[in-house]
Amino acid sequence: MIRLSGIRKAYGKTLALDELELEVREGEFFCLLGPSGAGKTTTLKTVAGLEQPDSGTVVLDGEDMRGVEPYDRGVAMCFESYALYPHRSAYDNLASPLRSPRHRLPAGEARQRIGAIAELLGISGLLDRPVGQLSNGQRQRVALGRVLVRPARAFLLDEPLSHLDAKLRQQMRAELKAIGAVQHTTTLYVTHDSVEALALGDRIGVIRQGRIVQTGTREEIWYRPQDTEVARAFGRPRINLLPGVVTQSGVRADGGVELPVRARAAPGTEVLVGLRPRDLALHGGEGHELTGTVYVTEVLGRSVEVTVRLGTGEQRVSLVAPRADAARLRADDPVRLVVRPENLLLFEADRPERPGRRIETQP
Ligand code: ADP
Ligand code: MG
Repeated sequence: MIRLSGIRKAYGKTLALDELELEVREGEFFCLLGPSGAGKTTTLKTVAGLEQPDSGTVVLDGEDMRGVEPYDRGVAMCFESYALYPHRSAYDNLASPLRSPRHRLPAGEARQRIGAIAELLGISGLLDRPVGQLSNGQRQRVALGRVLVRPARAFLLDEPLSHLDAKLRQQMRAELKAIGAVQHTTTLYVTHDSVEALALGDRIGVIRQGRIVQTGTREEIWYRPQDTEVARAFGRPRINLLPGVVTQSGVRADGGVELPVRARAAPGTEVLVGLRPRDLALHGGEGHELTGTVYVTEVLGRSVEVTVRLGTGEQRVSLVAPRADAARLRADDPVRLVVRPENLLLFEADRPERPGRRIETQP
């Protein structure tokens, strides 16, 4: 449905998009995830036709968009810096896209559509208020509503929940995908928040310095991250990355950890062993073992984050355990951690020029 090939876009000396490749399928909710400055907004603007790429092609529905005006591309974009009419009411702002010649709806139908979207976005009570008097979070929801009210080939949403407080963001995140219009319309959704990407994306594209470094389902991104940087981008607390080396019989990691995994790398290769905090079990089970002592514990609601010193103590890992399992732990208590072989990730060591790539392992 949306295909970008070999897109290059420079602003002066800044290369915003560097041979970007991206494909969003019909009806899909695709999340583009990356840090600030990675090129996310430029990507959306290129699809919308608000920026012309220096090279590369944009194809929508099989049609090359070269020379096609933004208005004729049939996509609806919600900007990070939302363009609303401040003196007009929220209702008028929502209604204005439906007054354009292309999307004109009978008044009754328009009112019904606006009512339904306003309800879902929790702004029904604000429709009479001038947008200039609304809070940032309320304005952001009006801006999102403006995009969703009108039928479009595709929605392009640029961090549409970023100005909402944490509670509202969580609530809206849950509701956004349930909105009928969103369910039926191809959506390219930009965010720098990995939790949001995992919650919303049918597929996720990770963008870094103007390039897509990995595209996949949330499972693929989570269980088979392309490199340490993708692995670090997902999951809180962050993945543990223990320095180690490939040996004849497996991997030896700092902190006296011996892992009998077969790695597709030559003995002597410097590696990082990736262990997600939620994949480390405190009380036994099948799998690879790590032993150490409790350094510190921190209660996080129903679970506890435990930091463990491995071996002689210079290396630490953190894990998240149910409160029932971890509540009685005290500093210096000995612990035995177990990770299931399928949850153990292995990467090449990071280099200054690029993050370490994942290495295949066999249990
Ligand atoms: P993101 O949305 O991921 O934060 P952007 O696409 O906005 O990133 O920007 C990508 C890069 O291009 C950044 O380095 C940014 O400073 C630069 N950039 C974006 N728009 C412009 C512009 N209009 N003029 C100059 N530089 C720009
Ligand atoms: Mg941006």
